[in-house]
Amino acid sequence: MSLALTDVVLTYPDGDRTLTALDRVNLAVGPGEFAAVAGPSGSGKSSLLAVAATLVTPGSGTVSVAGRDTAGLRPAERTRLRRDHIGIVFQQPNLPASLTALDQLTVMAHMAGRSPRRAAGRARALLAAVDLAGLEHKRPHQMSGGERQRVNIARALMNGPEVLLVDEPTSALDHVRGEQVVTLLDRLTRDRGLATVMVTHDLARLAAADRVYSMTDGRLSEGAPAGGQPR
Ligand code: ADP
Ligand code: MG
Repeated sequence: MSLALTDVVLTYPDGDRTLTALDRVNLAVGPGEFAAVAGPSGSGKSSLLAVAATLVTPGSGTVSVAGRDTAGLRPAERTRLRRDHIGIVFQQPNLPASLTALDQLTVMAHMAGRSPRRAAGRARALLAAVDLAGLEHKRPHQMSGGERQRVNIARALMNGPEVLLVDEPTSALDHVRGEQVVTLLDRLTRDRGLATVMVTHDLARLAAADRVYSMTDGRLSEGAPAGGQPR
């Protein structure tokens, strides 16, 4: 499995009590598999991605990425594992305003210490793969919301991850643009053998996924939430 969470429990302090954000969560996603997690706001979806991204360490349970158990890793090893194997599209992604689409991507390779010339070639190919070949020199304010989201996705793929984690990619988009982004995620997942986890509160976005899960109060179960069958 590219990504495996086993019996993951995550709690947050909540006044004099504790809030269970993830309650014995199990999730395994293999190469080329597109998993969608639906659930209402506050159900634990972003917490799930934070744990899968190794940004947050669970109270108990295990997280393995690209076949490696992340529990015993030192911080520097964890950072390297994340950088090399995990692509993250955050809910509020942050594209620096002064950078062109091309530079948004090449800066990722720069941070990973990769060759700038090869990075430029890879960035161009990725922008083409997300149908943005003509926008290489545009800055974020010159793009639509859907185009910015495509840049975010391309940026997350810059270091060739096995695992792609995507938080509410369609929440700021209209129906048509939202559908295009999900179709794109599906295509990238297959073409690149990614293990993709997309979380969303939008039930209409589940149709493209290979597997659908529901999150309710921190508990993950297989199948679409009641009232929202995938089309
Ligand atoms: P979702 O992404 O589905 O909206 P979250 O994972 O963001 O859900 O949150 C799940 C629960 O954990 C919510 O009750 C939220 O208030 C709480 N929570 C999230 N992050 C924190 C945090 N850093 N500290 C305390 N509570 C948090
Ligand atoms: Mg969230």
